[in-house]
Amino acid sequence: MNWDGKHITVAGLGVSGVPAARALAGLGARVTAVNGSDGDRERAQAAELEALGVTVRLGDGDTLPEGTELVVTTPGWKPGSPLFRAAEAAGVPVWGDVELAWRLRGPDAAPWLAVTGTNGKTTTVRMLASILEAAGLRTAAVGNIGVSLIDVVRSAEPYDVLAVELSSYQLHWAPSLRPHSAAVLNLAPDHLDWHGSMAAYAADKGRIYEGNQVACVYNLADPATEALVREADVVEGCRAIGFTLGAPAPSQLGVVDGLLVDRAFVADRQQRAQELAEVADVDPPAPHNIANALAAAALARAYGVEPAAVRDGLRAFKPDAHRIEHVADIDGVAYIDDSKATNTHAAEASLAAYDPIIWIAGGLAKGATFDELVTTAAGRLRGVVLMGADRALIGEALARHAADVPVVDLDRTDTGAMAAAVREATRLARPGDTVLMAPACASMDMFANYNERGDAFADAVRALATGRDATER
Ligand code: ADP
Repeated sequence: MNWDGKHITVAGLGVSGVPAARALAGLGARVTAVNGSDGDRERAQAAELEALGVTVRLGDGDTLPEGTELVVTTPGWKPGSPLFRAAEAAGVPVWGDVELAWRLRGPDAAPWLAVTGTNGKTTTVRMLASILEAAGLRTAAVGNIGVSLIDVVRSAEPYDVLAVELSSYQLHWAPSLRPHSAAVLNLAPDHLDWHGSMAAYAADKGRIYEGNQVACVYNLADPATEALVREADVVEGCRAIGFTLGAPAPSQLGVVDGLLVDRAFVADRQQRAQELAEVADVDPPAPHNIANALAAAALARAYGVEPAAVRDGLRAFKPDAHRIEHVADIDGVAYIDDSKATNTHAAEASLAAYDPIIWIAGGLAKGATFDELVTTAAGRLRGVVLMGADRALIGEALARHAADVPVVDLDRTDTGAMAAAVREATRLARPGDTVLMAPACASMDMFANYNERGDAFADAVRALATGRDATER
């Protein structure tokens, strides 16, 4: 592709827009970056880009600059935005950051092992990178994980293979992406305001399987993921590989007698399975996380990694903060921070991992309903503490499906409410219980992000621990 003098509009600054504008300017394109908001952060970014010859227009993200031949967008911009409508009317293509990165790869570029799903993406991609590293491969965990693919494909680093996390937004804007192998971990309603419908959301996730060469990895417990494999147009000979928490059939990975086993990438798979690792090698060994480990193992095995490296990579993996993180044991009660459970599907996974639970929940519901979640978890709830803007939605679901469970409604949305929530939860807890902060909601009504919410919880727990019988982790 000849970029020289090409008139390109970059829509949106931020983690993907800035690297895109920088890269395109470096290739000789005439770049205009547009952004709706015009704050201090955007001005600082604009100054950096202008020094590279990029024209920056802050305060108007709607109008398509005159002469644009290609739009490269930040994945978060909604498909129906005025700028895209103008591009469509003018016959101008729109690419996302992933599409641009894919097209900027060199002829000997590292293949991509790609992961998407509603929940578990970051964990799985980091497990995969850990396994690939244990196999002695030069690799990195990149993409939606906070590492720009554009920077990665243009770096001088000689990668063998990349572990790539892709969001549904990124997939939407990446029509020519063709991974070596890919996994869709699960599919539950999320971001429907952006995609417009569950069908559109699933279709965007399913794009990850297009053109796969070796394996399309799906979740046997989630038939929607298998349906996406069936619909995908793949390279001749590419296999569908399922993962399951039960015993695997041929062409599947699964669990037998406390072992993760592979019955897909072995000779004679009708007769035998290959041991990969123990369930206890996975941290934490909660069911949903074993599923993540199996998906990572499947992708690594599709790339030809030996079983011992799967085990070593899983053992070396440590989960990121705020994902089912054990904060402390105080007076026989465990305190767990799962602030990253920002939707009901994620919260359901961690609620399934403990019993009995004092559940701290609430925040921004993003259009979710809570009946199913509460019905599934009701039998394990000793008590519930609610906070945040949409707490009434959870409170009403509890009244409908778990009327016996005591509920403390804090009626607060201030940052300090977390300390009160921890105190109330402690009051409800008995030795042997787990206080689980898995809010099933986004955090932005009370906190800057889920990290801050998790830190507030951990701080409150530590304050409580002072002078008590506590072991901290
Ligand atoms: P993502 O990158 O998709 O947001 P993470 O790996 O960061 O996923 O995990 C986010 C949260 O989702 C975790 O805190 C956990 O509660 C939940 N989770 C992780 N893996 C799964 C899974 N396979 N199924 C359901 N929930 C999961």
